[in-house]
Amino acid sequence: MTQKASRIVLASRPAGNAELDNFRLDQVVMPKLKDGEFLARTIWLSLDPYMRGRMNDAKSYSAPVELGDTMEGGCVAEIINSNNKDYAIGDIVVARLGWATHGISNGVGVQKINPSIAPISTSVGILGMPGLTAWVALNDILKGKKGETIVVSAATGAVGGLVGQLAKLKGMRVIGVAGGPAKTKFAIEELGYDICIDHKSLDVKELRVRLSAASPDGIHCYFENVGGKTLEAILPLMNTFGRIAVCGMIAWYSPKGMENASPIPVAWGAILRQRLRVCGFIIFDHYDRMEEFHKEVAPLVSNGKIKYKETISEGLESAPQSFLNLLEGKNFGKQLVRIGHDPR
Ligand code: NDP
Repeated sequence: MTQKASRIVLASRPAGNAELDNFRLDQVVMPKLKDGEFLARTIWLSLDPYMRGRMNDAKSYSAPVELGDTMEGGCVAEIINSNNKDYAIGDIVVARLGWATHGISNGVGVQKINPSIAPISTSVGILGMPGLTAWVALNDILKGKKGETIVVSAATGAVGGLVGQLAKLKGMRVIGVAGGPAKTKFAIEELGYDICIDHKSLDVKELRVRLSAASPDGIHCYFENVGGKTLEAILPLMNTFGRIAVCGMIAWYSPKGMENASPIPVAWGAILRQRLRVCGFIIFDHYDRMEEFHKEVAPLVSNGKIKYKETISEGLESAPQSFLNLLEGKNFGKQLVRIGHDPR
């Protein structure tokens, strides 16, 4: 049986901000399965900020997507044909099939999912890469402690939403920064943040005043998801020997966001004067922590102690626009695309 697949390819590299024209939908016929391979149909496609970096032809921690190639991405998928003894038809897996309705894998880097734990979409969200990112950075990098104050930017996002809740469980004072009243309300009422500040209408100085008022003991930890004016507002407020986990800087992923980027010497000066520990990290160096993360967080998700939010768009065709929305903060929680029927 020949299997046709639809996919979204990188049609051109963005000259400035990413646009719809940079993507193209096309159809392919899947090749015959080789020994050790399986064919899977995508159910959920995860859209993540890192994908913006893959559109550039620039040196980074991962190679760029080549022009004409399928956009990269993690998916929850069901196996529909298999020549691999470890994967049976009907198995649900997390695999990097890209922005496509179907994909072939040899099983390397693939994770089998137990669908009875939580909805399978969470395997690319709160119980997947973004969740692991939150847990690893809070525990291993920031080493957040009871009584300390932490600020979390993109506070209701896939990563930030879990950071805030885990920090609260540790007994920290948790301050969020998020875009818009719906998100700040959700952060406080549903996720348990002590305070959440809407950055949308505030300039750097106003944001700094609000953050300062919210943190009478200063800021011990900053979970950095955005860069931009939020970072600029926070740096002078960091306590001596404060810690910053540099997770992401989405405000600077597009050239447009760089217009008002603060000069490096200002940031460097704050790091030196306040003797800050600033630690960048990339989550794929920490996948050995997945099992322990699951052991701790999966039960909390199953019993509803940890909450999560998803924004779902329908069909592969919707992926480019949903991705552009994510880069502008129009998503609310984990951004997913429903590609195929979810059997669970
Ligand atoms: P989110 O679900 O948090 O979505 C992105 C959010 O970023 C938006 O909802 C918006 O939140 C905020 N945002 C978007 N554009 C801007 C902007 N110009 N200025 C300020 N804020 C903006 O995404 P994730 O949770 O998946 O990722 C959060 C961060 O973590 C990203 O920077 C990502 O690259 C990074 N990351 C890093 C990893 C690593 O290994 N180091 C692994 C996974 C993620 P709001 O409206 O509230 O401002």
